Parts: sequence; structure tokens; C-alpha cells
Amino acid sequence: MIRFALRCTHGHEFESWFQSGEAFDAQMKSGLVACPLCQANEVRKAVMAPALAGRAAELLPSAKPQDSRAPVALLDRRDRELRAVINAFRKHVFEVAEDVGTRFAGEARKIHDGLVPGRAIYGQANLEEARALIEDGIAVLPLPPAADNYN
Ligand SMILES: [Zn+2]
Repeated sequence: MIRFALRCTHGHEFESWFQSGEAFDAQMKSGLVACPLCQANEVRKAVMAPALAGRAAELLPSAKPQDSRAPVALLDRRDRELRAVINAFRKHVFEVAEDVGTRFAGEARKIHDGLVPGRAIYGQANLEEARALIEDGIAVLPLPPAADNYN
């Protein structure tokens, strides 16, 4: 078994194991080597990273095929993007919305009933208040905690 570092035309880098260098060439020619991220068949070797498989590889943790699971890296990147989105959303809410604190439920109801000018607000509501608002068709959203708190 031999491991190749590969790169698709979209710049995605991934690693794959092949029986041999010849097997890689043959699979490439047959279009059997595809980028796991975008399925592109136009793939070239990036930096060749030959490694032994089998017993010798078990002694070298970094050479194990399990270490080249591209989808994990992908989830990781999505996760980072999600965190950035959550933080941007929070920042946006704090910028455009008015902090009404614990008056949130009453204020949301007043806005919904047209008693006060409509505007974006944020604050605290307990579960009962939030449930009552939603039952009355008043669109409130739980504000996600800062993404850094997930760490
Ligand atoms: Zn790709």
C-alpha cells in the first residue's frame, strides 16, 4: 500500500491509499480517483507521501490510513464557519436590536399588537413567557450563546 497526497482542480487536498504507484496511475486513467469533497476526477499528486501500511504503519501513528479522513476536516471547516455565522448573528442582533432586558415578553407583545413602533428587540424571557409568545403567533427566536462557549 502506498499513500499519495492528492489535489483536485479546485485545490482540495486529500490523501488516498493505493495498491501501488502503478495502481494509482491506472485508476487515474480510468477516472476512478475522485476528490472526496467535490467529486472532481481531475486530480494530481500533490506532494508524494509514501508510507508503509501493515505492521510497520501501526508503529507510525501518522502513517495510518485512518489519519487521512478528509470528511473530518470538512466538518471542522463547516463548524468553524457555523461558529462565525453564530457570532456574526449575535453581533448583528446586539447592533440593530434594542436591549429591553426582562421586559422582553411584554415589549414583544406590544410590538406585535401595534401598540408601539415595530423594531427589533432582545432581552430575557423565561420559558413560559417564550412559549406564550410563540403560541400567540409572535415570532421570537432563542438567541444562541456565543459560539466560543461551545469550546
Ligand atoms: Zn475537490
